[in-house]
Parts: sequence; structure tokens; C-alpha cells
Amino acid sequence: MDSWDFAGRLAQLKQQDLYRSRQIINGPQGVEVHLDGVCYNNFSSNDYLGLANHPLAIKAFKAASEKYGVGSGSAHLICGHSAEHHALEEELASFTGRDRALVFSTGYMANIGAISALVGQQDAVFEDKLNHASLIDGGLISGARFRRYPHANVNRLAELLQQSAADKKLIVTDGVFSMDGDEAPLRGLIEQAKKTQSMLMVDDAHGIGVLGHTGGGLLQQQGVSQEQVPVLMGTFGKALGSFGAFIAGSEELIETLIQLARPYIYTTAPPAAVMAATRANLKLCIEDGWRREKLVALVEQFRTGAKQISLQLLESSTPIQAVVLGDNELTMAASGALKKKGFLVGAIRSPTVPQGSERLRITFSASHSSTQVDELLSALSEVV
Ligand SMILES: *Cc1c(COP(=O)(O)O)cnc(C)c1O
Repeated sequence: MDSWDFAGRLAQLKQQDLYRSRQIINGPQGVEVHLDGVCYNNFSSNDYLGLANHPLAIKAFKAASEKYGVGSGSAHLICGHSAEHHALEEELASFTGRDRALVFSTGYMANIGAISALVGQQDAVFEDKLNHASLIDGGLISGARFRRYPHANVNRLAELLQQSAADKKLIVTDGVFSMDGDEAPLRGLIEQAKKTQSMLMVDDAHGIGVLGHTGGGLLQQQGVSQEQVPVLMGTFGKALGSFGAFIAGSEELIETLIQLARPYIYTTAPPAAVMAATRANLKLCIEDGWRREKLVALVEQFRTGAKQISLQLLESSTPIQAVVLGDNELTMAASGALKKKGFLVGAIRSPTVPQGSERLRITFSASHSSTQVDELLSALSEVV
């Protein structure tokens, strides 16, 4: 029994300021949340468009649960794929400008499922070092030769591609990087993929809803076609304010995933009511351009204010703004002090980010007011 030594391992994590714990939220997600009876300004959520508690999503959810019940009953390929799932897939195909889309239960599963369906032992996968954990895990699980290139370094990627003799080469990147907020060097990646007959996959979990004229994400904003980026992944849990994820691409890609993606095949389909709520929010996402405009204005206000108080931010024009403090203890202390002042801000430590780049991760929502942003800046000026 002693070789397990849970207590010793936990004590070690605590001592390194790496211990993780949860806080219990009472009430809906929003720019104000209640914890232990206290109300906080929330700058830590991924609910970028402020749709997680939207009345139309709640209404659609209620109506669909009256019609379909709560449980989906089985996997998609048995009898769990409802008309709501199917309608959402058709709407997502049109939203992303792709032939088809396939709903997965979570983004984590979509990434693992897609990568391991596309490459195997004879192949190679090339990933940005700052890719989301689910992309890294997908690459490892696939059994393909796994190569990582320094963040956004297209030249290094080009060298790795040249050196590879693999049958199939898959390049995988975050669209908007989840912890830094910057954008993938898409043009360079597309060029390398074309030159080496590699396939390019983009995980746009943080771009969908936020970038592009109808919220179609980084690929819509940059006018990138299905041929250039054949595999697009997006999630519902962030800007779309619900739960779940999708992969969009060609007819053949989607059919291949239905046949081969194990996390698609061997799991219960998400509830139809969640799909109905997602459809309602997708409609709001497309129609409410003001939400994206408001986000841009809030981010600009924050960056201008940060400059005035000499707060060092990573380069980012998205609603993800990072203040790198470079140390676990400093990061935990800063987020604790902000909490005392009534602000919830994410404290991000390794292994989520590389050691030495521990940070506060501040995220904005279209539901924040410009007064809240001023108040956050003033709290940051006292704490950091
Ligand atoms: C959140 C996230 C995921 C995982 O999506 P879930 O639906 O939460 O499992 C995948 N990739 C990126 C970049 C993310 O930020």
C-alpha cells in the first residue's frame, strides 16, 4: 500500500503551490457569480458572448426536455442521435462554411477522436508546444510519431516536416491559444501543409463566436477555405454558452470520423435539450454582432488602461489577456488578493502553462460593463 503514498504526493503538490481545488458556485454563470454567499466580479469564465444563462437558451432547453426527456438513451450510432443533434450539425456546417459537421460530447473527446482516427503508427503528428492538452493527448494516443515545434515557429515546423518520412503528416494547432490569447500563424501553416502534402487541423475553441463577422472564428476572419484547413474543431462550452463540441470538414472526413473515432462511437450522445440550447445560442451568436463589437471595445479599454499602470500583458487582441508573473507563489498570491477585493481571475500554473510563465488569465465577456473593467484595472494596480 505504501508505494501509493497519496498523502505524501498531495503534501508535495501543496508545498509547490501546485495543489488544485474547486470553488462552489451557487447560481448561474455570468459576469457576477456567487461563492459562499459572496458576489464576485467574474473575469475567469470562457462565456465570452454572455450566452450561458440567456433566456432563449433556457427556453429552448426546457421545450426540448419536455419533448425528448433528459437522457439520450444511447450512443449516436445506436439510438441516441435525435433530430436536435442532426439539425445542429446542419446549422454548424452552414455556420462554418464546411460540407458537414459532427457533434461530439466534449471538445476533449473531439480532439482525441479526430487525431487518432486520422493518424496511426506509420504516420507523424506535428503540434505547437502551446497546444491545448486535449490535442497533445490526442497526438500521443494516436501512436503516430509525435513532434512538437516551438510556439508559432513555422520555420522550425518546416524543418521537422522536411525530416519526416512518415506516410501521412498531420499538423495540429490551436486557432486562438487558450492561455495566451494570440492567434496561430495560419498563412504559414497552410503554406507548409500544401508544400508537404500534410493535413492541417485547427482547434478554434476560443475563436468560434468571438472572431469573424458572424462569429465563425479565426478561419472565417481570415477567409480560410475547407481545402486549406480540412479539419476544424470548435466547442459549445465557451462562446456558445452550452456544452459539447464539433468537428467540421468534408463529407468524407465526417463519414470517416463516424466509422473510426472511438470517443464518438463508444459514448452516450449528449442530451437533445443541450443541443436545442446550443442551437438557440448559435442563432444569437450569428445575429448579435454587437456582442463581438462590445468585446473588442472592452479588450481595447483594458489594454489601454493596463499600459497606463505599466501592467505587462502578453500580445493579444482576443478576450484572453494574460499577465505573466512567472512563479506559482506570486500567481496564487495575486489571484488570492484579487479575490479579497471581489474579483475572480484565473491563476494558471504548470503544467497548464510552461514553468516560469505562470500567470493571471483574465477573460472578458460581452456582458461586462466598462465600469467593471475600470474597477478590475484599479484592483490590479494595487495587487500586481
Ligand atoms: C476547452 C478546450 C477544449 C476542450 O473542450 P471541452 O468541450 O471543454 O472538452 C479543447 N481545446 C481547447 C483549445 C480548449 O480551450
